[in-house]
Amino acid sequence: MEAKIWLSSPHMGGGEMGYIQEAFEHNWVAPLGKNVDEFEIAIQDYLQENKFAAALSSGTAALHLALIQLGIGYGDEVICQSFTFSATANPIKYLGATPVFVDSDKTNWNMSPEFLEIAIQDRVKNHKKPKAVIVVHLYGMPAMMDEILEICNRYEIPLVEDSAESLGSKYKGRRCGTFGEFALLSFNGNKIITTSGGGALVTNTKAQKEKTIFLSTQARDQAPHYQHSEVGYNYRLSNICAGIGRGQMEVLEERVSQRRANHDFYKELFSDIDAVEVFSEVNSDFYSNHWLTSITLHKDLTSRTTEELMSAFLDRNIETRPLWKPMHLQPVFKDCPYYGENVAEELFNQGLCLPSGSNLTNDDKKRIKDVIVNFQF
Ligand SMILES: *Cc1c(COP(=O)(O)O)cnc(C)c1O
Repeated sequence: MEAKIWLSSPHMGGGEMGYIQEAFEHNWVAPLGKNVDEFEIAIQDYLQENKFAAALSSGTAALHLALIQLGIGYGDEVICQSFTFSATANPIKYLGATPVFVDSDKTNWNMSPEFLEIAIQDRVKNHKKPKAVIVVHLYGMPAMMDEILEICNRYEIPLVEDSAESLGSKYKGRRCGTFGEFALLSFNGNKIITTSGGGALVTNTKAQKEKTIFLSTQARDQAPHYQHSEVGYNYRLSNICAGIGRGQMEVLEERVSQRRANHDFYKELFSDIDAVEVFSEVNSDFYSNHWLTSITLHKDLTSRTTEELMSAFLDRNIETRPLWKPMHLQPVFKDCPYYGENVAEELFNQGLCLPSGSNLTNDDKKRIKDVIVNFQF
């Protein structure tokens, strides 16, 4: 059996072990310490725009704490992009609130500004103004931020950015993760960089960062004894994992270039196959980290299915993945309101994510190319 080619696997930079070693030497084997502090500084320096970052145990935890700070609770409604991974919607449910799902734009794949406004107007008419909007930069592609921010500002609804897949992406030159009232980052094992598992909440103010850290460390009041006036969580990032993060931040730009080079490879590979479209930026306002390069099959140009293509890859021990199944089609969210047509559903039916790790080798690419060349589209 040929060695497995993964969809997206961890790719160490080399500096990680030094930071872990340092933590061991000083016995800071705990969810706080120099690595946590320095990792946060590295994220803040990278994002610019005077942002603050709190390092947490996951991106999901970060979103949970963002929604708590926006005052979301039982019976509230939160607008959420339907075309995403379930972690974008789950924290809404943790708080007893209801996700209101919105369809995607055809060319951008992220939240449709048109359906966002339709959803807001309809919810307001039903006497329930949504308390927040969660937009996602899926597969690294920046969402249509000008249009979405204009709508959120006009209706005075705070925006939360799910930047779990888009660290290193830019919209009109500004980094994803810096547009919202809050933004979450993820450092799970298959993301653009990893801490083995971890996340961060990006905030606008130092006070929000401090509140995030307070909530993530059991909400302990200032008192000599253990006193609590609020419900707390145990969501802080381990100092060992943060050491991995420090090493990963040193190679982040390189990782973005490598993923973008994978995208170029696929563009070239499919350039004369009309039945396949490689998901790409529509114009230079958008700069994707191309976390996962994805394709869609044109139904009218081929009768082959994405399942068949997946299994052709699997025969050569190559991992691929269907596009995210939209949240409004998930059994767990079946009773939630939805605004849209069937853009996300169509993408889900016709799309596939291809191996996109920053550590793909030339031999890996040769094997991937072999599968495509031999597949009769
Ligand atoms: C990975 C991911 C998350 C969750 O991040 P975790 O660190 O795994 O909790 C949230 N949203 C999207 C779009 C993701 O891809």
